[in-house]
This record gives sequence, structure tokens and C-alpha cells, in this order.
Amino acid sequence: MGRDGTIAIIGAGIAGAAAARRLHDAGHRVVVLDKGRGPGGRMATRRGPDGLRFDHGAQFFTARDPRFAACVEDWTARGIAAPWGGPHRSVGAPGMSAPARDLLAGIDLSCGRAVGRLARAGDGWRLEEADGTALAHGAAFSRVLLTCPSPQGLALLAGCGQDLPGLADVRYAPCWTLMLAHDGPPPFEEPARQDDDPAAVFAWIARDGTKPGREGGGTVVAHAAPAWSRANLEDGADAVAERLVAALQAIVPLGTVRHAAAHRWRYAQVERAVGTPCLFAPETGLGYAGDGCLGPRVEFAYLSGLALAERVLGQAEP
Ligand SMILES: Cc1cc2nc3c(=O)[nH]c(=O)nc-3n(C[C@H](O)[C@H](O)[C@H](O)COP(=O)(O)OP(=O)(O)OC[C@H]3O[C@@H](n4cnc5c(N)ncnc54)[C@H](O)[C@@H]3O)c2cc1C
Repeated sequence: MGRDGTIAIIGAGIAGAAAARRLHDAGHRVVVLDKGRGPGGRMATRRGPDGLRFDHGAQFFTARDPRFAACVEDWTARGIAAPWGGPHRSVGAPGMSAPARDLLAGIDLSCGRAVGRLARAGDGWRLEEADGTALAHGAAFSRVLLTCPSPQGLALLAGCGQDLPGLADVRYAPCWTLMLAHDGPPPFEEPARQDDDPAAVFAWIARDGTKPGREGGGTVVAHAAPAWSRANLEDGADAVAERLVAALQAIVPLGTVRHAAAHRWRYAQVERAVGTPCLFAPETGLGYAGDGCLGPRVEFAYLSGLALAERVLGQAEP
């Protein structure tokens, strides 16, 4: 099989979406698979009861690099992103996954598909679920670009006896997130509060409903700080939600709590990155992009995806 075949991208977060868009626009056939219900990855919106919605992952993004800034400007002009939460901060609209959805428009995307194994097929690769079921109709791919958090990428690489040097060095802080709906006045004036004290229970408390395109009601998203999240990491979500509600009530007035649930992000924010824009092994066609490469930001994940696409484009014509 030649090197000009279809390219598989594992992960439809912002890194996978950026890589897919660039490769698709350059004329390559691209298939994107994601184990989640929809694209966006950690740029996510969770539905609760009674139509409640919470941006329970990334809260906003900034744009410093001109390539990402141009993208954000375009999203803003088209209503896919909007300013929120302070100078130079934007959010997806009507939810955080909107930018990834936009990048993936017109691209072959399969959600609810967890890649469990990479199997050699000539000089390319086939993708399988963990139980060996073929994915993507058994298609062979010239290249497989991993854009999942590094531990999940490492597991796939180990399963086929491959390695991408540097990937094992990436470290993430976990995060327990509280999603809460309440009746009564807003708990504070400003859209969000940040606390940089590592001993604090919460690193971030947002009035989620103040984001553009969201229902205005009393919804709060609160991220527990890394130390608290680590100390409570293996506890059940219900018990954690209870503890976080009590901790939040001790800080701000919440009135009547109508709904509370907790979500565990095992790999939330990168604490140690590879330090290069992407990883790519031309001899195997395997590559890696994501925030694990450049650091804990939506923008860095986007730029990493773009860098990996450029590496592939530098290797082959469509
Ligand atoms: C709680 C929290 C708060 C944050 N706050 C901010 C913030 O305010 N600002 C900011 O800039 N950044 C923030 N971040 C970080 C930001 O969300 C990430 O840096 C960025 O979204 C990472 O994008 P990515 O594409 O690299 O990875 P992801 O978004 O994680 O995408 C990876 C995708 O791979 C999929 N996947 C994994 N394994 C498999 C498999 N085996 N098969 C198929 N699919 C698979 C996953 O389902 C996922 O969709 C936050 C993150 C969290 C969790």
C-alpha cells in the first residue's frame, strides 16, 4: 500500500479536528473516530435533566498565535465563538464543542467508536475495537494520527509494539467538576471566579448560564483544584458531588440546589508537555498531536493538530 491512502485520526477533540480540517482541505481522504457521543473532547457540554446544559470541560480559550487567532475571528464572525469571561477570552457558541464541530464539517466522522487496537495491514494500519471488531469497515489506513490524551495513545501504541519517544513523559492533573443548578439570586456578580491557591477546594467557579447562547438560568460549573481532585480521585461521583456542593455552599450563597452532579476528568490539564509541536514517525505513519505536546490550552492543542497535519503534508502529496 502506498503512502497516499486514507488517513485515520483517533480523537475528535480540537487537535484531531484541526488536523483533519488541514488534511481534508489539502485533498487527503480523512476518517475521524471518537469514542465519545460527539466531537469536542474536553471542549464539552453535558446535558442534565430539564434541558440543563453545562460546559463541564474547558471554560474558555485564548488566541495568541496568528493562525489560531484567525480561526477564532472567523468563528466569532459566524457565531460559532463569542467573547466571554474577560479580555481576549472566547467560548464556543451555543456550546463549547461548536468550534470542533465546525472544523469537522464535511469530514467523515464516526462517534461512539473506541479504537482498542491498531493492527498492521501491509505497510499501513487497520483499526479495531478492543474485542477485535474491525472499525471503519476494515479499511486500511496509510497513517494513523493519535490525538487522545497520552496515556490512551500509549496504550494503543503498546498494543502494536510501537512507540513515539517523548509521549510517555506527558503528565496531566485530574479534575473533578461540579455541575449545579440552583434557584435564587446569582451567587456572585462576575461571570466567574478563579482561585490560584493550591490548597483551595475550587480552582474555578463559573456562572455557566452567563455564557453567550446559553439559557440565562442559575447554572454553575465549578472545577476542583488539582490537589483536591487527586485526593478524591477514586471516590464515587455521587459522594464527590455531595462534598463539592457542601464546599461551594460554604463559599457562596446558592439558594435552593435543584440539581448537582460531578464529572471526573482523569486527564484534565497538562502539567508536563513533550515540548515539541507534534510527534510523527514517517516510517510507520504513526503520529501524535494534542495538548500533551505543547501544554494545557485549547490553542496549544489546535496548533499541535495543525503541526501534525503539516508533517504529514510534508511527507506526501495527496
Ligand atoms: C476541566 C477542564 C478545564 C479546562 N479549562 C480550560 C480552559 O479554560 N482553557 C483552555 O484553553 N483549556 C482548558 N482545558 C484544557 C483543554 O480542554 C484541552 O487542552 C484541549 O481541549 C485538549 O484538546 P485535545 O484535542 O488535545 O484532546 P481532547 O479534547 O481530550 O480530545 C481527545 C479525544 O480523543 C477521544 N479518544 C480518546 N481515546 C480514544 C480511543 N481509544 N478511541 C477513539 N477516541 C478516543 C476522546 O473521546 C476525545 O474526544 C481544560 C480541560 C479540562 C478537562
